[in-house]
Amino acid sequence: METLRIAIQSKGRLAEDSLGLIKDCGIQFDTESRVLKERAYNFPLEFLFVRDDDIPGYVHDGIADIGIVGRNEYDEQNLPLKVVKDLGFAKCRLSVAVPVDFEYQGLASLEGKRIATSYPGILGRVLAEHGVHAKFVNVSGSVEVTPAIGIADCICDLVSTGTTLKANGLREAECVYRTSAVLIARQDMGSEEKQAILQRLMLRINAVQKAQGYKYIMFNLPEKELEKVRRIVPGMKSPTVTHLLEAGWVSVQTVVQEDHFWDVVEQLKHLGAEGILVTAIEKMTE
Ligand code: AMP
Repeated sequence: METLRIAIQSKGRLAEDSLGLIKDCGIQFDTESRVLKERAYNFPLEFLFVRDDDIPGYVHDGIADIGIVGRNEYDEQNLPLKVVKDLGFAKCRLSVAVPVDFEYQGLASLEGKRIATSYPGILGRVLAEHGVHAKFVNVSGSVEVTPAIGIADCICDLVSTGTTLKANGLREAECVYRTSAVLIARQDMGSEEKQAILQRLMLRINAVQKAQGYKYIMFNLPEKELEKVRRIVPGMKSPTVTHLLEAGWVSVQTVVQEDHFWDVVEQLKHLGAEGILVTAIEKMTE
């Protein structure tokens, strides 16, 4: 039987969340060994644990069929692959950072400057769109020390909190690109069986991700307020309602979007809801 091979970062910022997502999909594997190649016990999936910057190339060359990688790596390498899904974790931004005394007034301030970056592809495209010409100093690590040692005027690097920049006497001048982890695949996997396994995997990933945006909520409510509740919590189709032994009261069960959750609770309280119980949802499909 055919298996789908997924390339995952062996260690680093993407590794834990990538494996966490696979586990949440109910796919079991030996988490301890994390040897280069490993097979899941209960799903036709094989893991390839590698460096994240190798992942687009491996998928392109057919060494892996799919991979989880930062969108930055995918866009930087610009290989003919497709993004199957934005997974939403490992969010960060690619920003221009300058020494504190650098007078930055937009991308035009970078004209003729030496910019140290590991992302000459992405930054090059952004600068070209703005008609700015700069010289790239290509470095793969410790980009933030390059202005202090005199090999660059400023840098363009991934930032999440900005603490590393500050520690090196730099300030974030402008965000030029945003990234998060994506699931990538070859444009043509060349096998219907592999395509079918990918679809099964996507059903699970979508269910896990959808559930993360929702909560399951149960509460008791005076029956006369039921119509108003339908407007506040429409649920997936409509709320489930059961009668309580106490006359004039019902129990309501439904799902609520996490983003609106506190608004909903406040409105329910206002209608006289009591005993509001909330639980996380593990998986959710249409
Ligand atoms: P690592 O090799 O462990 O540093 O992981 C690098 C990848 O993690 C990058 O390519 C980004 O997609 C992602 N990432 C998320 N937050 C950050 C951050 N603050 N700095 C660098 N990379 C980040």
